[in-house]
Amino acid sequence: MKRLPLKKVSAISWGMAVLGLALILLAALLKMTWLVAVAFIVLVGTNLFLFAYNRCPRCRKFLGHSGNADRCPYCGHRLSE
Ligand SMILES: [Zn+2]
Repeated sequence: MKRLPLKKVSAISWGMAVLGLALILLAALLKMTWLVAVAFIVLVGTNLFLFAYNRCPRCRKFLGHSGNADRCPYCGHRLSE
C-alpha cells in the first residue's frame, strides 16, 4: 500500500469529516433523507481511510483517530518532523 505523510492523512481525514458533517446539516435543512446515507458513507469512509493510513511509519501500528501525537505510543518513533 502506498504511504502518505501523516500530515496529509490528517488534512484529508479532516476534510472528509467536515464534508460528512456538512452533508448531515444539509440533509437536515433540505429534509433529504438519502443525503444522510451519503453523509454516513463519507464518515465511514473517513474511518476506513484513517485505519488504512494513520499508521506509524516505523512499526506500522494504527495510531488512533486523533493523529496529533508527537511520538508513536508503541515504538516511540518521532512522528512530527
Ligand atoms: Zn511505531
